Amino acid sequence: MDCELCDILEKIHTKVYLKHPNTIEPFIILECHTCKVPMVVFLKHEEPSEVGTNIAVKLAMELFPDKKPDFRRRQIPEHPHFHMR
Ligand SMILES: [Zn+2]
Ligand SMILES: [Zn+2]
Repeated sequence: MDCELCDILEKIHTKVYLKHPNTIEPFIILECHTCKVPMVVFLKHEEPSEVGTNIAVKLAMELFPDKKPDFRRRQIPEHPHFHMR
């Protein structure tokens, strides 16, 4: 399957803030190559559980206390991710 996000994750030429923390829903926090803000990407092609999402939000808020999660998906709507703006 062609997925822009998986492509980015494979090459990772963008800044990575946090990689594969040991949580129930695997995710990675990296700099979005288009928005230049931190982006949390869940590694599975399915919606993460509410618990998994909350863990990711909590970790991201700890890393970026001056930012808020933005769950809108303008690009790549099929892939679970959110930005910290
Ligand atoms: Zn993907
Ligand atoms: Zn972005």
